[in-house]
Amino acid sequence: MSAGWLRACALVMLGLFSVSALAKDKTVIVVGGGLSGLTAAYELQNKGWQVTLLEAKPTLGGRSGMATSEWIGNDKTQPVLNKYVSTFKLTTTPAPEFVRTPSYLIDGEYFTAADLATKQPATSDALKRYEKTLDDLARSIEDPQNPAANSTLFALDQINVSNWLDRLSLPATARQLVNQQIRTRYDEPSRLSLLYFAQQSRVYRGVADRDLRASRLPGGSPVLAQAFVKQLKTIKTSSPVSAITQDKDGVTVKVGSVGYQADYIVLAVPLRALNKIQMTPALDAQHMGAIKGTNYGWRDQIMLKFKTPVWESKARMSGEIYSNTGLGMLWVEPALKGGANVVINLSGDNARVMQAFGDKQMVDQVLIRLHAFYPQARGSFTGYEIRRYSTDPSMGGAYLAFGPGQISKYWRLWERPLQRVAFAGEHTDTLYPGTLEGALRTGQRAASQVEDLAAGKSFEPAKVVPAATAAAAGAVAAKKGNFFSNLFGGSDDKPAPAKAPAPVAPVAPVTAPVAAPAPAPVPVEPPKPAVPVKAEPVKKAPVKKTAAKTETKKAPVKATAKKTEPVKKPVASTAAKIPATTETKTQ
Ligand SMILES: Cc1cc2nc3c(=O)[nH]c(=O)nc-3n(C[C@H](O)[C@H](O)[C@H](O)COP(=O)(O)OP(=O)(O)OC[C@H]3O[C@@H](n4cnc5c(N)ncnc54)[C@H](O)[C@@H]3O)c2cc1C
Repeated sequence: MSAGWLRACALVMLGLFSVSALAKDKTVIVVGGGLSGLTAAYELQNKGWQVTLLEAKPTLGGRSGMATSEWIGNDKTQPVLNKYVSTFKLTTTPAPEFVRTPSYLIDGEYFTAADLATKQPATSDALKRYEKTLDDLARSIEDPQNPAANSTLFALDQINVSNWLDRLSLPATARQLVNQQIRTRYDEPSRLSLLYFAQQSRVYRGVADRDLRASRLPGGSPVLAQAFVKQLKTIKTSSPVSAITQDKDGVTVKVGSVGYQADYIVLAVPLRALNKIQMTPALDAQHMGAIKGTNYGWRDQIMLKFKTPVWESKARMSGEIYSNTGLGMLWVEPALKGGANVVINLSGDNARVMQAFGDKQMVDQVLIRLHAFYPQARGSFTGYEIRRYSTDPSMGGAYLAFGPGQISKYWRLWERPLQRVAFAGEHTDTLYPGTLEGALRTGQRAASQVEDLAAGKSFEPAKVVPAATAAAAGAVAAKKGNFFSNLFGGSDDKPAPAKAPAPVAPVAPVTAPVAAPAPAPVPVEPPKPAVPVKAEPVKKAPVKKTAAKTETKKAPVKATAKKTEPVKKPVASTAAKIPATTETKTQ
């Protein structure tokens, strides 16, 4: 063997050694296999980290939906989502024009926005008035990253959206449709902070509905989740994390009696799930308050399957169709094996009320309403699928929807890492919470924070806004009769007088204690059972106690024979599948 050849071999060996030595120092555990966790894991693995993803359920993808084919926005509105769609070469199909703007189902009759203008001008005009007022409100927020920039804006956080809507005095049908739109996208208006609603409206200001529903992703977001899974080397499903211990050398994560160690961790689980993980050192009072108190919107999905479409042939019931009669928001889904599917999205307090019903009873209630408008419904009905996100203990709701007072307390709290933990998940995104785009963005952000932490960067602790400031802000707003009080002022379209005392009233709640969203349902428009149905008692999601003991010992970390080795030595992946049983990939 020549000297040159030997030298080349030595260099290659040296190279391999240094890569593995480097890799040995870069281990991370990602907890949660929803789209945010999958993104963080993928990005970190691409940067040379040894990643182990732990998912509580036997399947991956988290809340990514039941829809057999999901609407997605174009790359102007959802750039991160579109980037991954193209990286993974996923197929999309352009959305037909008719689904790209919302339409309405009023007492069973289908209306496009144009239909509404000619056939129900009062409702149509009221909807336009609402949109204009909302646009004014949104415009007042200069920076959606900092919505409570001044005391007046801060005061909006103490008011709920329902109070604000009351002041618009919309006619009944228009109000029902507006309520339905808000509860579908966020939560019941009475549970929603007006500042959050304004901030989100600001984020989407100038974004056309048609851009938000630009194409379909056949197979829906689970297809995107699968694409990530295929890339990842080490995934362990059916692995609910119960405890996380950080010390100066790293983190230890417990799944039952098994421990995993790494240098850093990305926590990509919703807040209610985080509440069940024992953290050492414990989280501070502000984080614990956020975990327990942050409001989540409720939205359950029921897919009803029919032999043939039962709705009128002219009703192109797809996209977003808002119903005024307890049917929530509907869209027609492609049926893979013939027939016709309609997805009913029950949300807000309608979804809460429905928790009193078992799955089949819930479907019956919806079917009864549909049957009232479409008499062929019962005869043509072949079956259903149902997803109840709100009572799933690993989710605890559909998505983040800040309640009154909560932006003031928890704004951007989860964007900052705590020692060796970075947080991801739709609820940690400032601009697009409650969306796939938001989940993906936070996975990317958490991945880059882990890199920053490894590079020695420290992150500022979250700043708490003193409650006194909030109260003072409210008082100022209440005194002044300003742009906002004028905005609340009118049930008519006339601008309120600048110093009118009455319109200020909606700001008054600022002085009242800001309650966490009540757990008990307070239905705004409870769906009326058409036939008497015996309701089962409302079941509370079982709250598992986490192990009380704190595990500070780092070594030895036990691994059962069934489970695999600790995180630090991943090897090439085995074929990945969703769903998986115990482990999607082994080491
Ligand atoms: C009904 C509904 C409709 C939606 N429609 C749309 C839409 O049309 N467009 C859109 O953009 N977005 C939509 N969304 C929002 C989007 O689906 C979510 O924002 C996104 O899927 C959230 O991803 P995530 O990773 O933040 O959380 P999740 O998907 O909830 O992932 C968290 C994961 O953590 C796991 N986990 C929890 N506890 C533990 C533990 N202790 N140990 C290990 N793992 C744990 C959970 O099982 C879960 O898999 C919708 C959501 C719902 C509910």
